[in-house]
Amino acid sequence: MSITDRIDQIAKTLPVGVKLIAVSKTKPVEAIEEAYRWGQRRFGESRVQELVEKYNLLPKNIEWHMIGHLQSNKVKYIAPFVSLIHAVDSLSLLEVIDKEAEKSGRVIDCLLQFHIAKEETKFGLNCEEAAELLLNESYVRMSHIRIVGVMGMATYTENVEQIRQEFGHLREMFENLKADYFKDVPAFKELSMGMSGDYRIAVEEGSTMVRIGSSIFDVRGG
Ligand SMILES: *Cc1c(COP(=O)(O)O)cnc(C)c1O
Repeated sequence: MSITDRIDQIAKTLPVGVKLIAVSKTKPVEAIEEAYRWGQRRFGESRVQELVEKYNLLPKNIEWHMIGHLQSNKVKYIAPFVSLIHAVDSLSLLEVIDKEAEKSGRVIDCLLQFHIAKEETKFGLNCEEAAELLLNESYVRMSHIRIVGVMGMATYTENVEQIRQEFGHLREMFENLKADYFKDVPAFKELSMGMSGDYRIAVEEGSTMVRIGSSIFDVRGG
């Protein structure tokens, strides 16, 4: 199957209101162009340098999503154009994004990344850390970032019930944050969860944004 066939099939199975982020990291520009010709406009990358290179080469109506761990010293390269930063997990990173967004005359949308997996290696906040961030005076003063939701990655496992629980937990934290800190903020509505292996479960658990790479771009043997 071609990239076009795969993205078409996946897009058809997503409920209305669930956004598809085509994760094109490590994939060539030609692969992105094929998805673009089909009509895909949201692409996700996890490395700053690669994201900037692709931004420069490709049509300017693409929405670029930074989905990977972001280092503070690299924010300046993507601040002029990035559409959504998915993996904000510290106040200090948010401070840098706010500063660089101001320089670019923009307000940059961000998601707070939560740690929901059992694995030690994954980045992300817990409930208390998120509350601390949102109550911090420095956050309250920021005017060039907008937190529009949360993001998380489930454990890499075959255990469907565990994945479902982890996504369910993220949705609960999302709803608690909405009630406690974003009640009058309609923009706070995104739940970025689900990848190739687990997006169907994520959608059942309320995802509004799935980040799918290999199921679209890894065309193995026809
Ligand atoms: C690579 C990546 C994805 C996509 O993973 P696939 O399994 O290829 O669909 C989604 N989210 C993040 C944060 C990633 O780094």
